[in-house]
Formats: sequence, structure tokens, C-alpha cells
Amino acid sequence: MTNVNPIIYLDHAATTPMHPQVVEKMAQVMANTYGNASSVYSVGREAKALLEASRESVAKSLNCLPNEVYFTGCGSEADNWAVKGYAMANRKKGNHIITTKIEHHAILHPCEFLEKNGFEVTYLPVDETGLVSLEDVKNAIKDTTILISVMYANNEVGTIEPIAEIAKIAKEKGICMHTDAVQAVGAEAIDFKALGVDMLSLSAHKFGGPKGVGALLVRKGVKLEPFMHGGAQERSRRAGTENLAGIAGLATALEISVENLSEKQAKIKAMRDYLISEIEANIPHIKFNGNREHRLANNVNFCFRYIEGESLLLMLDINGICASSGSACTSGSLDPSHVLLALGLPHEIAHGSLRLTLSSKTTREEIDYTVSKLKEIVHRLRLMSPIYDMSLEEN
Ligand SMILES: *Cc1c(COP(=O)(O)O)cnc(C)c1O
Repeated sequence: MTNVNPIIYLDHAATTPMHPQVVEKMAQVMANTYGNASSVYSVGREAKALLEASRESVAKSLNCLPNEVYFTGCGSEADNWAVKGYAMANRKKGNHIITTKIEHHAILHPCEFLEKNGFEVTYLPVDETGLVSLEDVKNAIKDTTILISVMYANNEVGTIEPIAEIAKIAKEKGICMHTDAVQAVGAEAIDFKALGVDMLSLSAHKFGGPKGVGALLVRKGVKLEPFMHGGAQERSRRAGTENLAGIAGLATALEISVENLSEKQAKIKAMRDYLISEIEANIPHIKFNGNREHRLANNVNFCFRYIEGESLLLMLDINGICASSGSACTSGSLDPSHVLLALGLPHEIAHGSLRLTLSSKTTREEIDYTVSKLKEIVHRLRLMSPIYDMSLEEN
């Protein structure tokens, strides 16, 4: 298959193209390793061996024990399991959970579900750059607090949270700490042991792997209710015949991602900063979103005043540029992003947001083309906007 129109893909936070080596690995597994990993004969044992090799590979990439890796059906499942599974298994100890206002819906909605079932949840605010304050974490802790869940890096504005510091606070108080690291795994160097969290979520399709497979790392000794009840797979904690091709694909994608990570990161960061400075130099009436320092290497997020993010996306698409406004899961709805609102942006500005997320393959030519199109489109949309005219008259 070849693309007739060159596509400029700048939405790597929504999903990533699969790495060719991952596709090859999965095709091999699907064609040859068809056994059920729970069967005793050789074909099953072969599947089991590949499953355990994949687990060891993930453990090595993230510095945890192989037995601390639990494969799941996606990142959302890992998040749901961490929050609900921990709450259900530890409700005798307390019913209070601390999280933040800027989590992914895969954390926020399980928390809302738990609130309807006798739990109390504190949603921590963030500052105007998206950072959680350690003081707020400390002040939110009660005698009944059993779990703190704070995302490693935000999927919309790219802000990286002080996870090791929060984990330290949690540990001192004997509280379990989970982090949704779906945006960070494969993009940031992650050492599960050194980070000090008890649970960590990840998803393969965010780092060059397949969709529909993820993992939850669970520190040895953490009490967790099974998410899926049934067979004895995943040490009886997650029933269901394993998605072997997906799991092998996840492990391979992670191996590739962590290889020469700091060099790739430096390259993406340089491109990101070039894109930010080009937008700032060429387009007026904009607002940079997120934290300039504590930021994912590939994330650019701006609000363009007087225009709608959705119109901007459609016009970019006509020009072959894939981008996002808010998060992929919520676009289509007209509500402004809960993340931008938590950063203190007024509704009318939050509506005009654009997220561009790069990869190590993004080129300077792609960025130059994107900025020139963006400049044109923003100008054209503003000329059609009645609020833009009004504001010009006021000035
Ligand atoms: C993408 C994403 C998820 C959900 O992962 P899926 O595998 O798509 O279910 C959860 N949290 C964050 C921060 C994400 O970016």
C-alpha cells in the first residue's frame, strides 16, 4: 500500500503507526504460535514460553520483576483495574482516593463510579501549567486515604508530574500509589523500582505497538481484586486466553522504544521547540498551553483565539495534516477539554485548542509546511469570525 497524498501525521499522542519490526513479529506469532499458553503439549508450551519471554522483556525495559507485569486489553483496562481493583480489595482500610482534575477519562470515570458506590474522591487542582502541587497532595491525605493516582504525563498538554516525589509522600503515609504512564512509557526513561510507585499503566499503541493491548505493573505484595474473573491466566488476576500476538508486539515495540531513547528524545525535543518558536513567531493572538520545562518531548499545544479547534482540524486535514483538538476520545463532543478548563482557561479560549504531537521521524520540512498552512488557515478562519472583528474594533 502506498499513500497517494503525503500525510503529515502529528497526532502521536492519540496513537502511533506500528513499527515494521512489530508488524513482522506479530505476523510470525499469528501464523506460527497458535497454541493456548495454558495447554500442556508442545504447541501450548511454545506459546507459554513466548508469553513469559515477553513478560521478561517488558520487565527488563522498565526495571521491574517479570511477576510484576500483568498484561491487559488496553491502557484503559489497566487504569480501571488499578483504581477499582485496589479500591475493592482494600475498602476495609478506608474509602478515600486522591486523584487529579486532569486525568484521562479512564481514571476519572472509574473514580466517579466508585463515588456512586461508597467511596470518596478528591480531585486535586493543578496550576496554570498543569502541575500538581506536593502541598496539595499532603493536605488532601486523610486517615481513610487508601490510594493516590496521578498521571505521569498529561495526554493533552504534555505536562510531566512530580511522580517520584508524590510516591515518596504516599509511601511515608502507607498509601498505595498508582500512575497512568500511558503517555510516558516508550517516550521517557522509566524505572519502575526507582520511581517508587506501586502500580503503573501502559498501552502498546502509544509507542509503536498494536492497539488493544496494555499492561499494569503491580508491585509485589499489593492487594488487588482481579479485573476479569475466570481462568488462572496472569496468576489468576486477569482471566482470559492471552492475546499472544499483541503481547509479543507490545514487548517488541517497547524494546525498540527504549533503545537509544535519550538520543531520540533530544531529536524530538529540538523539533518540538522549533515548532513552538515558529508558531509563536508567525501567528498572533495565541496561548501556549502546558509547562515549558516539565513537558513531554513530543507535545505542542496552543489555543488560537477567536476560532474553533474543530474547524482548524478540518482545514488541516484537507491539507493532509493530522492533528488533534483536546483529546481524541472527547473530540466530536462540543464540550471544551476538562484539562484546559482545569488549567484555568475560559471556555471560549479552550475551544480553540490544537495539539500537535511529534515522533522521532518528524522532519523540519513537515514542520515548515504545517506552520505555513496553519498560518493561512488561522488567518482565514479569523476573517470569518464575528468575534475577531469585534475585538479588532475594541483595540
Ligand atoms: C491513550 C491513553 C489512555 C488509554 O489507553 P488505551 O489503550 O487507548 O485504552 C489512558 N491514559 C492516557 C494518559 C492515555 O493517553
